[in-house]
Amino acid sequence: MAATNGSIFGAMLQEFDGAARILNLEPGIWKILTSPKRQITVSCPVQMDNGEIEVFTGYRVQYNITLGPAKGGIRYHPNVTLDEVTALAAWMTWKCAVAHIPFGGGKGGVICDPTKMSKREIEALTRRYIAEIVDAIGPEKDVPAPDVNTNDQIMAWVMDTYSMHVGHTTTSVVTGKPVELGGSLGRREATGRGVMIAARESAKHVGFNIKGASVAVQGFGNVGSISAELLAQEVGAKIVAVTDWKGGVYNKQGLDIPTLLDYTKQKKTVDGFPGAEPLTNADLFKLDVDILIPAALENQITGENAPTIKAKVLIEGANGPTTPDANKLLHDRGVFIVPDILANSSGVTTSYFEWVQDRYGYFWTEKEVNERLEAKMCEAFGAVLQTSIKYKVDMRTAAYIVAIGRVATVTRMRGMYA
Ligand code: NAD
Repeated sequence: MAATNGSIFGAMLQEFDGAARILNLEPGIWKILTSPKRQITVSCPVQMDNGEIEVFTGYRVQYNITLGPAKGGIRYHPNVTLDEVTALAAWMTWKCAVAHIPFGGGKGGVICDPTKMSKREIEALTRRYIAEIVDAIGPEKDVPAPDVNTNDQIMAWVMDTYSMHVGHTTTSVVTGKPVELGGSLGRREATGRGVMIAARESAKHVGFNIKGASVAVQGFGNVGSISAELLAQEVGAKIVAVTDWKGGVYNKQGLDIPTLLDYTKQKKTVDGFPGAEPLTNADLFKLDVDILIPAALENQITGENAPTIKAKVLIEGANGPTTPDANKLLHDRGVFIVPDILANSSGVTTSYFEWVQDRYGYFWTEKEVNERLEAKMCEAFGAVLQTSIKYKVDMRTAAYIVAIGRVATVTRMRGMYA
């Protein structure tokens, strides 16, 4: 998701164009799918703790709602722009379509620095932002979720504010809520579980045994740590290296992930974990491993470090970890790359499960959630793999072809309303 001429939306369009050309997408549908359906900008006045009034700018973009309600997180960050929110909403459109769930794509953002705000100020901002966009969201219209610097408590405030406006409790207006108020079991682990499934299926396709396969993971937060844990626990892979913001650790024989998890709970980093050698992020990418999982930040694998990568399989747990030039270099060398919109789509798939359960008012066991997730992820992986074989393209282009193809088909079926 590297910016093109400073525009993140421009980068999205580049990825879109490549796949749309292969699909021979007709110009009319092309125009529709590259135009955001709705972009809302609101001003949110908030009385701060010092008594002064601040006015925060908030956005909500519903990029495309052809397949269903818009779906996408709310981001609180000083660098939020309408361009970024629009691009992220477009990517959500393609991610939901690849995952084959009945959602369109949306995203929200508020320009603010939550690290400098009190809990009360964040609650007041959240409630005012939601009040400003209340007519545009809803279980049938647009269903927000957490993103950068927002969490389950903020989603609880979103749900409460919307419910107060409509006059009744509406849990299905937002996902990523605490389990006590309509959240889904298995949501916390969902993205990591999907990454594990993608790694397992990739090994099958590339032709090596996942049991005993060596794995290096960048990032040991929600996605990285749970991917590592499940890869070790459920399929017997050997996690040899992990890095995070502070440092990293390496053990050729395999790291003991449950003990490493306990260690990071106390130390807030993997750095210094006993029984392993220290490792930098740069060295992580050079390791001779079967599977590499970037699960931290965007733009980590670049034209510079891609030539040093020896992994057979790259699973993009993070959003946008590979720059376009690195992607080309690695693909040309035969590295099998599972792109972000497929690899980490299990997060939004489980958000869809949360929305379904809330609308039913009937909740599934964790086992049921995981079984349904397994089925959805395998279906999505299979569709993208078959498309990559059919069109002789890499998995990233194939994922876009699947996504754009699905949205285009339904757009044609629905026809023009005029
Ligand atoms: P997180 O905040 O829980 O964890 C991020 C991890 O990255 C931490 O271990 C942190 O130490 C590490 N990190 C930060 N800077 C680093 C650096 N310079 N070098 C190495 N490691 C560094 O975040 P997360 O929820 O695990 O998300 C990780 C990525 O996955 C993001 O790109 C996010 O957008 C994407 N993602 C997350 C989900 C989800 O459900 N959590 C879903 C889809 C995509």
